[in-house]
Amino acid sequence: PAAPRRTETFSTLRLQGVGRTFGRTAALEGLDLEIRRGEFIALLGPSGCGKSTALNCLAGLLPLTSGSIWQDETRIDVLPPERRGFGMVFQNYALFPHMSVRKNVAFGLTMQRLPKAEVARRADEAIRLVRLEEHAHKLPGQLSGGQQQRVAIARAIVLEPSLVLMDEPLSNLDAKLRLEMRTEIRRLHQSLGLTTVYVTHDQEEALSLADRLVVLRDGTVQQIGTPEDLHNRPVNQHVADFMGYRNLIRLTAGEPTGDGTRVEGDGLSLVGSQVGDLTPGAAVVAAVRPEDVTVSEPGTSGPNHFRATVEVVEYQGRELAVEARTESGVRLHLRTPHRLAPGDDVVLGVAVERLLVFPDDGTASGE
Ligand code: ATP
Repeated sequence: PAAPRRTETFSTLRLQGVGRTFGRTAALEGLDLEIRRGEFIALLGPSGCGKSTALNCLAGLLPLTSGSIWQDETRIDVLPPERRGFGMVFQNYALFPHMSVRKNVAFGLTMQRLPKAEVARRADEAIRLVRLEEHAHKLPGQLSGGQQQRVAIARAIVLEPSLVLMDEPLSNLDAKLRLEMRTEIRRLHQSLGLTTVYVTHDQEEALSLADRLVVLRDGTVQQIGTPEDLHNRPVNQHVADFMGYRNLIRLTAGEPTGDGTRVEGDGLSLVGSQVGDLTPGAAVVAAVRPEDVTVSEPGTSGPNHFRATVEVVEYQGRELAVEARTESGVRLHLRTPHRLAPGDDVVLGVAVERLLVFPDDGTASGE
């Protein structure tokens, strides 16, 4: 007989110091995370940072080498995957090719030996939720990639899991479908109140889907926060880089000023907002997003303004993506509604609160 599933839900799921090593490699170290019921959590980071390891530890597919996982007061990392009552959606869909959409979706319910009428009712409901009514009789091979991923999602939610785990579910889809499915996943999450942990390396995807993001690097957590937290207040240079702070300028810390920290070098002298500990003379990276670099008329002057020449202009709808170079050779990326052209002389500016100053961790590409 099928093992009994734990279908009861929880109010919090806690990961405490969760770690996993492979030989000498620490794939994941000391992950502390509290997931509230109904939350959408994204695990975000570059390839090899430990996202899948974290997800597989949660799912029970990979034993922990340290730490524990708790569903409210119950320790669950000791339970096999099928006893955790979680749903899984993978990048490659993992559908049964010889079974119709309806049979694929009903499979888990059938395994639980539920009455036929209930199986049919719940399978049809899940198929309706992912809008595949018209395709219920087809085989997976007769569906598009996006439709196959919908089947995989229906197959997970039909079991009414207390937690849904998704590992890069959209990465096999083309750009347009990816956007459509993103909206679909968000819609399902909102209408069903599903607690979800979602793995991706795509920051835009993570920012648009998640209530909170966990940014990982080399197996360790860099920052946990809402999209807004990460967007406006990245805690270090790595997170800033990942969050679209495309301008990372290597400078030297000067004395603190009344409203910020002075940073200098390469012909620039700017005031920014310090993040972390710094002493005057320390190597720093000043980070600013392209959309936070402003363009003024030549001749404008003021604090945090400097002259530059436009080098490359890319049309991007309402805005231009522009690359400019300061007189001393620092290259900057900006986005602007101004119709600039290569060769234009401009004055660029950065607000003190938009220029984040981090201790240099040595990873800036030095563009
Ligand atoms: P990707 O997006 O490429 O899947 P990821 O962020 O999910 O990357 P993981 O797959 O969790 O990263 O891998 C984290 C680290 O652990 C990597 O250095 C990887 O090589 C290593 N690793 C993962 N699984 C194993 C394994 N079964 N055996 C040995 N090393 C592993």
